[in-house]
Amino acid sequence: MRSRLAWLALLIAASVAIGRAGARAPALPATGDASATGDAAAPAGAAGNGHGAPVAAGGADADPGALAAGVATAPTADPAATAEERNREAVERANAGDLDRTIDLLRDARRLAPDTDLYRTNLQAALIDAAFADLRGERFRGAIARFTEALALADRGEIHRGLGYAYYRTNEPESARAELERAVAAGAADAQTYLTLGRIHLDRHDQARALAMLRAAAGAGADSPGLAATIARLERDAAAEADYRALGSSHFILKIEGRGGDAAARTVLNALEDAYRRVGARFAYYPLERIEVVLYPDETFRALTGSPHWSGGIYDGRIKMPIGGLARGSERLARTVRHEYAHAAIVTLSKGKAPVWINEGLAQVAEETDDAGRSNRLRMAVAADGILPLADLASGFTRFDRDQASLAYAQAYFAAKYLLDRKGAYNVRRLLEAMATASTDDDAFRLALGMSYADFERRLRAALAAGAR
Ligand SMILES: [Zn+2]
Repeated sequence: MRSRLAWLALLIAASVAIGRAGARAPALPATGDASATGDAAAPAGAAGNGHGAPVAAGGADADPGALAAGVATAPTADPAATAEERNREAVERANAGDLDRTIDLLRDARRLAPDTDLYRTNLQAALIDAAFADLRGERFRGAIARFTEALALADRGEIHRGLGYAYYRTNEPESARAELERAVAAGAADAQTYLTLGRIHLDRHDQARALAMLRAAAGAGADSPGLAATIARLERDAAAEADYRALGSSHFILKIEGRGGDAAARTVLNALEDAYRRVGARFAYYPLERIEVVLYPDETFRALTGSPHWSGGIYDGRIKMPIGGLARGSERLARTVRHEYAHAAIVTLSKGKAPVWINEGLAQVAEETDDAGRSNRLRMAVAADGILPLADLASGFTRFDRDQASLAYAQAYFAAKYLLDRKGAYNVRRLLEAMATASTDDDAFRLALGMSYADFERRLRAALAAGAR
């Protein structure tokens, strides 16, 4: 299942100011009102910069009734007057809801009269409004361009807020974090900003900051699915690990309880670094941020994760393993570590949006084990016409009974292997990255592999049937 952040309405009160707000902007006479202003149209202060000249000239020579039109079409060489016309028209276009045209006109006004503050603030307001409209329409690249242009005009907190969210949605978490933290520093305290920051910290495995931000989001009224459960999990983990020690290697931080256990920790860290190289080579993926791994006493592991006794580990943003798993031998440990580290890579690349069959399938491939049981299970299913549709394998396998679960894992394994064999690791990585931002799996398949999801499944089924003969 695909979780989507609900975009809370962030439309700010930026609206294009009417031209009159400018200190020296003369009120152009509306048609029919000309006689009242006549050649006095230029207000005090305008004459000094020549601003009022064409108006005055028009008023003096033409019949007063034609004044408004004369001003509007005057082949004037006065940039200030032209800029003002652009601004006036922009206000009309803004009121009509045509922000693209509004922005063009205001850019023009600004080019003609770069020192007029009104045009700068109007342009910025229009850009901000248009950028937030882009966010609501999920046009994130367009939003980034507009926010960036708006930011160059003057620094405003809500620009950082919108920009940060747009970067988050285009999968640029470091830029997103920088912008959102600037927004918070500038006073942003809305649920969406906190929630997005919390998710970014979760993705980069910073549990303490994630917990602080998610608590702030809940306090600001965030009502996101799973938020309360995530906060509870982070709080449980923090409490359970209060007296854990941390040991580091190049790419991992391993947390382990209290005294002793150094030998076990070193064994696990070595296995993890080996997994980093092997899984990295498979997906050309070598993250710089260190991944956190926690080694729990067996009973704590089961209580915290709710995993069955045979489970060798889980990945939920961190790799969690029961210390008893080490007793099962180094080959078993290496296999578990490769499997869980592959989950870390897949979840990170796809931002958790990869369907479960891809996630469990690729993790099994990463184990580098030949498992005759998987082939047998699959052959039986093909013979009995019992192959499950991929749609049934998109979400968690825990709802399956034991037999269905073994088939689900076997199918996931062969589907992932087929994908890798046919498309290559590089394209599988691109697929995972496309899943992070695409709105459907089908979109991601088309974007990264040039084939529809249905097409892939049809070919996969044909290959499974052929392989089973
Ligand atoms: Zn798994």
